Amino acid sequence: MDHIVLTGDRPTGPLHLGHYFGSLANRVALQDTYPMYVLIADYQVITDRDRPGEIQRNVTDLLLDYLAVGLDPAKVAIFRHSAIPELNQLMLPFLSLVSVAELSRNPTVKDEIAHSSQQTVNGLMFTYPVHQAADILFCKGTLVPVGRDQLPHVEMTRLVARRFNERYAAVFPVPEAMMGDGPLVKGLDGGKMSKSRGNAIPLSATEDETAALIRKARTDSERLITFDERDRPEVANLLTLAALCLGRPQRELADEIGYGGAAALKRLVTDAVNDFLRPIRRRRREHTAEEAHVALAEGNRRARERAITTLDEVRDAMKF
Ligand code: ATP
Ligand code: MG
Repeated sequence: MDHIVLTGDRPTGPLHLGHYFGSLANRVALQDTYPMYVLIADYQVITDRDRPGEIQRNVTDLLLDYLAVGLDPAKVAIFRHSAIPELNQLMLPFLSLVSVAELSRNPTVKDEIAHSSQQTVNGLMFTYPVHQAADILFCKGTLVPVGRDQLPHVEMTRLVARRFNERYAAVFPVPEAMMGDGPLVKGLDGGKMSKSRGNAIPLSATEDETAALIRKARTDSERLITFDERDRPEVANLLTLAALCLGRPQRELADEIGYGGAAALKRLVTDAVNDFLRPIRRRRREHTAEEAHVALAEGNRRARERAITTLDEVRDAMKF
């Protein structure tokens, strides 16, 4: 099957290990085979905060993270929401295809509301999954490499595509999510590793910063290290981070540590993460912000061209 790949990230901070094992590794693997679009979702930043914050710096950092993990702008169109007004226009007919009840029962939206810094919930929080449908469908995306938290949104996109096709004309494919080896990587506090929750190991952190973050992670006082997700979730999570980085099973690592306790566990995790990220961190230093923004400008141009064509098709299908 010939795919078109679309995925993206919010420019809310540096990318972390969750991004790598949830989505970035698949992007890098797919970029040689399929056309790919990668979205910097800048309009999505203001779903759960009052202001976009250090948005320009975050966009530059995101671009450098992409180049560092090996996304190649010659193959991948990297673009941002705010450069493609057609996406916002696509969102309007799409919003008419879903009910308020469907918007309200999205479990990821509920989780994000629980972690939001806002006193009240704004309208974009409930409607951004439909914006995301526009993000995926503007390029007729068929494959969406994402973490598990995005599955309800991909489901929403499938709903929008099917309903549009039924109501107007067969314009859109029905896309599929693709999850990585770590569909839900947990952070150092046991919750979903997230840029905005202060629990992440950034790809771009230094080795010392990485060591300090892991040192602060909670463990328990049992000397024998075992992999037990139910009764020892903190220890299990550290083992999982190391297992992902080393490509080895958690139990094997636990056996190797044996009676070494939390200190030996943390040493092993720190080495595993730093060894794994070393080439990525090195590549990051080889790229400049200027180069990254040239890539973004070209990606914006390609994405916009595609979006204009799709919006024309949508207007035709609706007989506007
Ligand atoms: P924020 O806290 O600002 O929402 P985030 O860490 O959740 O940041 P996003 O930009 O919302 O990151 O998500 C970008 C992509 O990375 C999505 O496909 C998402 O599913 C994936 N992703 C994010 N966190 C994880 C994680 N902990 N494990 C696996 N995939 C993840
Ligand atoms: Mg998120």
